This record gives sequence, C-alpha cells and structure tokens, in this order.
Amino acid sequence: MEFDTIAAISTPMGEGAIAIVRLSGDEAFLIADKIFKGPGNKKLSTQASHTIHYGHIVDPKTDVVVEEVMVSLMRGPRTFTREDVVEINCHGGLVSVNRVLQLILNQGARLAEPGEFTKRAFLNGRIDLSQAEAVMDLIRAKTDRAMNVAMGQMEGRLSKLIQKLRQEILETLAHVEVNIDYPEYDDVEEMTHKMLIEKAQFVREEIVKLIRTSEQGKILREGLSTVIIGRPNVGKSSLLNSLVHENKAIVTDIPGTTRDVIEEYVNVRGVPLRLVDTAGIRETEDIVERIGVERSRKVLKEADLILLVLNYSDELTIEDENLFKAVEGMDVIVIINKTDLPEKINMDKVKALAKDHKIVSTSLLQEQGVDELEEAISTLFFAGSIESGDMTYVSNSRHVALLNQALNAIEEAINGVEMGTPIDIVQIDLTRTWELLGEITGDTVHESLIDQLFSQFCLGK
Ligand code: GDP
Ligand code: ZN
Repeated sequence: MEFDTIAAISTPMGEGAIAIVRLSGDEAFLIADKIFKGPGNKKLSTQASHTIHYGHIVDPKTDVVVEEVMVSLMRGPRTFTREDVVEINCHGGLVSVNRVLQLILNQGARLAEPGEFTKRAFLNGRIDLSQAEAVMDLIRAKTDRAMNVAMGQMEGRLSKLIQKLRQEILETLAHVEVNIDYPEYDDVEEMTHKMLIEKAQFVREEIVKLIRTSEQGKILREGLSTVIIGRPNVGKSSLLNSLVHENKAIVTDIPGTTRDVIEEYVNVRGVPLRLVDTAGIRETEDIVERIGVERSRKVLKEADLILLVLNYSDELTIEDENLFKAVEGMDVIVIINKTDLPEKINMDKVKALAKDHKIVSTSLLQEQGVDELEEAISTLFFAGSIESGDMTYVSNSRHVALLNQALNAIEEAINGVEMGTPIDIVQIDLTRTWELLGEITGDTVHESLIDQLFSQFCLGK
C-alpha cells in the first residue's frame, strides 16, 4: 500500500496549552526539514528515531520565524501509523499552530481527514477495527472508568475474546466438514451432533455475556442519563447545582464534534452523569400533573436514573404518589430534602412507596446528605462487577448490533441441530456467526464501512 504524507493539528488529550501538528508518511521528515531550523542547522532527516529536537519553524519563503517548537521524530514501523511520524509541539496557541500547519501543507503534505491517522494504523496492520474504535472512545471518554474500558479494548481485550470465539466456531466447522465428507460413519455423526451443540451453546453464552455488558459500557461512554423530578419547590434546582458544583464538571466540547443537546456532565465517583439541561428539568417539575402518569412514564423512560425529590417538611401529596407511579420499574433514588425543617412528611408512607429504592435524606440548604447521595449513585451503578478492571465491556453500538446478529445466527444453528436439520444448513448459520463476529475486529469488513467508521473520528487522530 502506498500513502501520501498527511498532516493535522492533534491536541493531546486533557491538555490545552500545547498543540501538536502531526505528520505521517514517507515524506514526513523531508517536509519537516524544509521549515525547521535547529541549532547548527542540523537536519531532522539525519537524526536518530525517537528523539526530540528544539528549534524554530521558519517560513522558507520569507525566513520569518513562525514558532518556537519541540519536534519529535519517530521512524516507522515503530509508530502509531507504522509510517514515519513527526510531531511538532507548538506553545503559541491556536493561531501559530495553524500557521505551522499551513506551512507544512505548502510543502506538499495533505490535510488529514478525520480519523485518517487511526485508519492508517488499521490499514497498516497496527491495530484491528475494535481497537481503532477504542481510540475514538478514548478521545470521548468522560471519566477514568470510561477511559479504562476504552483502554482495555484498545489493548485488544475484546479482540482476543472475539478471536477465541471465532476459533471455536472454526473447529466446529472443521468437524462438520468431516461429517459431510464421511456421512457413512454413524458414530462421526453422533459425535458431531453432540459437539456441535456443546460448542454452539458455549459461543452463545459468551455472546450473551458480552451483550449484557453493553448497557454499562454504553453508560460509561455516554453518561448515565439522569432526570431530577419532584413537585415545585422541593429543591430540584438546588440538587442540580450541588451535583454540578461539588463535582468536576466534565468538559464536553471535544474539538471537531458537535452536540445538539446542551447537557451538564458531572463525574460522580467515576459515574458519568448526564443531567438534562436546567430548562428540561424545569419542564419536568409538573410533568406528571401536566400530561398524566401514562405519558410522563413514556418521557421518563429514556432516563437511566431518576432522582425523585420530596419535601421532608411537607405532607405527601397525590402528585408525589403519581411520581412514584410514573417511575415504577426504573432505577430511582428517593431524596428527602429540607431535613433542616420540621418533619411533616409521613416516612412510613414514603418507605412503602419507595419499595426497594434507596432513600437518602438531605438538606441541600445546609449542604448535608450530598455525600450519601453520591454514595448511593455509585453503589447503584457499580453494584455489578464493573470495578474489577479487567472485564471486557462492549460499549460500541456497532459491536452490540453485530453481537445481536451473531446471537441470532448461533441460535438458528442450535435450533437446527436440535430439530435435526441437515448439517450443511447448520453449517451456513455457523459460518454466518463466524463472519459477523469477524466484522467486530475488522477481519471481514467492507471498504465502505471502514471509510464510514474512520470519518467519525476527530481531526488529527
Ligand atoms: P425546585 O423548584 O424543586 O427546583 O426547588 P429549588 O431548588 O428552586 O428550591 C426551592 C426553595 O427551597 C429555594 O428557596 C431553596 O433555597 C429552598 N431549599 C432548597 N433546599 C432546601 C433545604 O434543604 N432546606 C431548606 N430549608 N430550604 C431549601
Ligand atoms: Zn427548580
């Protein structure tokens, strides 16, 4: 494969002050040399790989110094793209970075398309597709835990598991072949039948397990969609404010991506909460009253977590009870606010209504109880095994879709065997399962899918 040299601004994650212009391709070193002036006029192209050089970027036409820089040189194949890579660290903010990029483009590099660096890493065999997608997740990760999931995927954890399953299927297919080739041996058929069921069921179980992790994976990636509900004046806005102020708000304006909805992201003990915007919360104040239990239930169903706020110093009303009805079956934390005021609420009744939902008492005015609430949120979410860091999570919707299709295919195969369907028909379903799993790692993907996937990346990755 032959590639031209591409360049883009690529800002390292979590850092704003330094911007990097990254170059990748055969001519990366030559192009950098045309605009770089180091001490003693040293040429970058003669320097050792994996070294860093101080110098200036100079416009070759005018000899004007554009920027003071540190340049990292990395020769392929020991680079992310497996090509020669030059990274120019600029300190002078966006304007000068753009000028550096412009100079590089003038020297014959091409502006990289979004995700093109990662695409090259994929095409050059450095990473597989699920790892490439993990890079994308890493860029978007909102908490450390989300980052760990993406890291695990990037290290190839999901890929290894998928490969193992595909191997199982291949072995099974090999046995089926034997059976088709030598149908006269009765015991072969019997053995094949038994082995088929065993292997196929094993594969099915593993796929089901993976699909099950996807809910948590998605939440880690996108944030737990959280809605605060309660009657007017119970303290919803106060709750939103204390959650936002006590926790590091998560920066969401990732360069190169746009969001149509404005939401507050907060990191509550590793759980990314996506709180709907204040205006949205206001609207839910009287949501049950306004549109009735049935319809409000539909609206609320989109939420992953409900924070239902009650007033400790007021009697329970029919509206409160309707709120409980509207969120039946959902993940709910009940918050009894205003505990600094005299008790008027009937706690026995609250407990009856709350059933097995966690109840937390707060006085948001006195900043009390928020810790307990955060504890409750993290317990609710991490009650599963997510804390054991080395589990494999599926967080990518494309992977989930493929796993579901693979599940269908393997179930067809199992049904087929059980119903005595001819073995070559079963073989088709097995092969299909094998192919679908292969699409997750990119072993059987089409060109257009690759383009589409990588175009979702941010520029410069
Ligand atoms: P919302 O209408 O549900 O959003 O309620 P707000 O958060 O706007 O609060 C309504 C009023 O209750 C405001 O005057 C708050 O200062 C007050 N408030 C909120 N939390 C508490 C609390 O824990 N104790 C007391 N005494 N007042 C509170
Ligand atoms: Zn409010």
